[in-house]
Amino acid sequence: MPLPRLEDWLARPAARQRASKLLDEQPLIRGSLVCSQLTCGKPRCRCTRGEKHTAWYLSVRHEGKRRMICVPAALLPLVQRCVKNHHILEETLDLVSRDVLDAFLNARPKR
Ligand SMILES: [Zn+2]
Repeated sequence: MPLPRLEDWLARPAARQRASKLLDEQPLIRGSLVCSQLTCGKPRCRCTRGEKHTAWYLSVRHEGKRRMICVPAALLPLVQRCVKNHHILEETLDLVSRDVLDAFLNARPKR
């Protein structure tokens, strides 16, 4: 049985194109958004009566450590989009990897 060439192991075009299009056209951040309910410490604020303030943080790994970065409300929609794009890319890479794994498994000698 002839050995397959590396090019024979390309994943299905739809998954590859989706991944490269995403990288070409969309920003992405590898991280996750975390929502916190906070009290501000002002004695007469509504948060003392249970209506807490909402704060969003971007949780990312930076130089081996987890960092929580406060996300201003005005930038939240953009950051949400960047984080979602990363999730879509991860899912797409899983599809690509599964295709190539299948090709590898099919290329192994059958016993
Ligand atoms: Zn408050």
